[in-house]
This record gives sequence, structure tokens and C-alpha cells, in this order.
Amino acid sequence: MKKAADRRYYERNAEAIRTRVNGNFHALSLEEKLERGRRNREAEGKESRRERCRVEQAKLKRDVLLGYGGACECCGNDYLPHLTIDHVNGGGTQHRKKETQASLYRRLRREGFPRGEYRVLCWNCNWASHSLGECSCQRTEEGGDALSPQL
Ligand SMILES: [Zn+2]
Ligand SMILES: [Zn+2]
Repeated sequence: MKKAADRRYYERNAEAIRTRVNGNFHALSLEEKLERGRRNREAEGKESRRERCRVEQAKLKRDVLLGYGGACECCGNDYLPHLTIDHVNGGGTQHRKKETQASLYRRLRREGFPRGEYRVLCWNCNWASHSLGECSCQRTEEGGDALSPQL
């Protein structure tokens, strides 16, 4: 019984045990060692490139949001994770050229944050101004009817 269990254990772990017993690093051929090192370095490089890329993306977005005032132009929300770059004319030029968000941000930063076409909005105001045509915070500030007739 115990033997059978041992056997199953051995079979399941045969690979690991073989490696532990006689396949340890020192037993590898030089080529295998080099190959193993190369693979490790490759994995590390890929990981840090991804991390650098993520950090760079976050910094890029932060630069652009701050370049456009760092606060929602509609409600004044200045909590950066809630902010987005809004295309003032509703993306009318998007069909002209397929531009990813990252390349748009890079272009805006390169061009010194040109005014007019883009502005900072929070997600709420962005959604409202695009789907309702007007954000509710604009209505109350103007003293108008706070209730949208479309709702
Ligand atoms: Zn807002
Ligand atoms: Zn608003």
C-alpha cells in the first residue's frame, strides 16, 4: 500500500526527482547552461520592458492631463485617475487617421498640448457631454433646468 503510494509519488515527480538527483545545474553541459542563462535573461528583459512600458504609459497620460490643466474643464475634478482627454468635436477626425491613445498622447505632448481640439474631462462629464450632448454640471452652473428633458 505504502509502496504503491510511493510509486505513484515517484512517477508523478519522476521528472523533478531526476533533475534533483542527477540533473542539477552542475551536471548540465556548457551549452545547456548558456541556453538556460539566455532564457532567464530573456524572461527578465521581457518583464522589465513591460514594466517600463507601463510606467511610461502612466507618465505619458499624466503629462498630457497636467498639460491640459490637470482638472475636468466641466466640474473641476482634479483626481487624475478619473480624468481623460476629451476630443472636443466628438472624434470627428478619428476616421481621418487611426491613432492609438498612446500615439495621440505622445503627439499632444510633442506639440506642446495645442488648445482647441482636446480638453480634460472626467469620465462622468465626458460620458454626459457625449451621450446627452451637455453635462448636467453646466446646466446647474448656468442656473438652468438641472433636469435634462432627455432623462
Ligand atoms: Zn467632470
Ligand atoms: Zn460636467
